[in-house]
Amino acid sequence: MAILEVLNLRAGYGNGAVIDDICFSVERGQFITVLGPNGSGKSTLIKAVQGLLQDTSGKVHVEGHDLFRMSRRKVARMIAFVPQGYDLAFDYTVWEIVAMGRYVHQKRLSSFSAQDNRMMREVLDLLGVSHLRDKKIGQLSGGERQRVLIARALAQDTPLLFLDEPSAHLDLAYGLEIFRVVERLQREMKKTILCTEHNINLVIPYSQRLVFLKAGRIQAQGPPDALITRSWIKEVFGADVEIRENLHSGLPEISLIHRHPQKEEKGR
Ligand code: ADP
Ligand code: MG
Repeated sequence: MAILEVLNLRAGYGNGAVIDDICFSVERGQFITVLGPNGSGKSTLIKAVQGLLQDTSGKVHVEGHDLFRMSRRKVARMIAFVPQGYDLAFDYTVWEIVAMGRYVHQKRLSSFSAQDNRMMREVLDLLGVSHLRDKKIGQLSGGERQRVLIARALAQDTPLLFLDEPSAHLDLAYGLEIFRVVERLQREMKKTILCTEHNINLVIPYSQRLVFLKAGRIQAQGPPDALITRSWIKEVFGADVEIRENLHSGLPEISLIHRHPQKEEKGR
């Protein structure tokens, strides 16, 4: 049985649908990535699947249960979300941010147990940010902040981990590192990952399935081998590319077609 099933999902912000006819399912332990250009509806989709948008219809099932009928607390025990951007209160410390991940497991009026504390220390360790625990989140670099947000999501101890463009504010090396971290969580902690991205090459090695989103509609879905083609990239991203085999991974990757300005000049 699929751990996550999305059926005819339609969502927007009160002015008509931004995404529509969204159908896909995710097997337990899979890493699935929604790829699409800016404004194609990736953030809308990843929020709507969690029931975070008012204006939503369709069905979402998590482990067979209707997500739109679950309490927020129940949803938060199934899905942890690393949002895009920094809509965070900047004066919280790293420790306080990670503690937020544990709230969903607390009994009413109880304080953190020894187990909560141990888990928070473990996730900070796992993401290599233990040394930052007393720093304010506003004092961190983009890469450190992203790790802290992932640590918070892990502290939530959910089977599903959602990430909205985790590399968006990071430079190349940090972006790559975040995907390596997430892949480790999939492998070692058996997390099921739903991620959105616009950077195609970055996600190919890590995703078992891709969903191509354009103007709020799914254009295609399948394994990277089937979807990373010239014609699909042209169709979804509007870019002319060549597909090559990555020398290290043997996987397909896109190569941009540039016109070399000086060569063009000589060729005239
Ligand atoms: P992506 O994440 O792929 O860049 P978004 O889901 O953020 O795309 O946006 C898809 C469309 O929804 C855009 O046209 C955007 O303007 C619109 N949109 C996004 N957020 C809101 C909002 N809070 N209120 C109204 N429209 C929004
Ligand atoms: Mg977005």
